[in-house]
Amino acid sequence: MSKVPSLTLNNGVSMPQLGFGVWQVPDDEAARTVATALEAGYRSIDTAAIYGNEEGTGRAIASSGIARDELFVTTKLWNSDQGHDSTLRAFDKSLERLGLEYVDLYLIHWPVPSKDAYVDTYKALEKIHADGRAKAIGVSNFLPEHLERLIAQTSVVPAVNQIELHPQLAQAASRAVHERHGITTEAWSPLGQGRGLLEVPTIVAVAQKHDRTPAQVVLRWHLQLGNVAIPKSVTPSRIRENVDVFDFELDADDLAAFAALDEGTRLGPDPATFDMA
Ligand code: NAD
Repeated sequence: MSKVPSLTLNNGVSMPQLGFGVWQVPDDEAARTVATALEAGYRSIDTAAIYGNEEGTGRAIASSGIARDELFVTTKLWNSDQGHDSTLRAFDKSLERLGLEYVDLYLIHWPVPSKDAYVDTYKALEKIHADGRAKAIGVSNFLPEHLERLIAQTSVVPAVNQIELHPQLAQAASRAVHERHGITTEAWSPLGQGRGLLEVPTIVAVAQKHDRTPAQVVLRWHLQLGNVAIPKSVTPSRIRENVDVFDFELDADDLAAFAALDEGTRLGPDPATFDMA
């Protein structure tokens, strides 16, 4: 079992560079799936209130026997709970469902610019952080303009911005803004949701060259870019395959081949307009 290396966030907290995402894992399967991931060596789990599986995730954590301080648990505040007081209430409920005393990272799931509440919402996250109930706070799906405003109007620079990022959406502009502010880039849908990406001939060729799978070379690309990646699978063999990426490296030719795949195309919604309640 390979050990996952950690990055140090801008507040000194360590975060595993590879984690396990549980979007679309039903609550009654989450306990088993997360348990498989923990057995495979993952120590970071990415859930969200809207995923409806914080309870199952919490059950897997409780029964894992792994010390709490060896785990890194992320959850996220849903759009309809944005606002200062409603955020504090929603956070309490997430903690309760997870069965935890604190999370390692709490994120605002989407900026929802039309609601114009993310600054007040973030101030509630700052309080949660000051109380020690989230070791780090951050955002998800924030565009550079949202980040700049947030940083200008609040005190704690987000530790992380979790954004859609894969070889066909390499997000160079956002990554540059993150780097300038010391914000760690976390990639969601790192495997492009397993759709056509893993059959792209360039990726298949790089995989064959290294005697690895397409998913493994895509994850390697994330790691070498400096991203945190949180691939999801419910298939035990793939869960293990996706964490077995710490004993090989892509070379400069491979990275150049990956760079040519960037089309700037999103699989998910546009953060400028997404306002699902
Ligand atoms: P992903 O890129 O991790 O792809 C997952 C899919 O890829 C699986 O369902 C499976 O079909 C396939 N797959 C996984 N491993 C494979 C392998 N080894 N070989 C072949 N196919 C494989 O997509 P995702 O689930 O959308 O994203 C990962 C995580 O990111 C989510 O679970 C969630 O935690 C997070 N996420 C966050 C947001 C957000 O708005 N913040 C949005 C989407 C996802």
